[in-house]
Amino acid sequence: MCRTDGCSAPPYARGLCRSCYRRERGERLGPCLVASCGKPQHSRGLCLAHYFRMWRRERASQ
Ligand SMILES: [Zn+2]
Ligand SMILES: [Zn+2]
Repeated sequence: MCRTDGCSAPPYARGLCRSCYRRERGERLGPCLVASCGKPQHSRGLCLAHYFRMWRRERASQ
């Protein structure tokens, strides 16, 4: 079981489930590159919300 309090998902890496492990990794990467956002990074320097926004834009332009 994931070692995060209140999380009962199966472990993925280092005692954390997949989403908690990603979150911990994101916090180490620092905040989102979008000015005034400040959320932890999820992927490619962006938080989850901004990453999804960029991803949707990329898909729409193809
Ligand atoms: Zn978890
Ligand atoms: Zn952001």
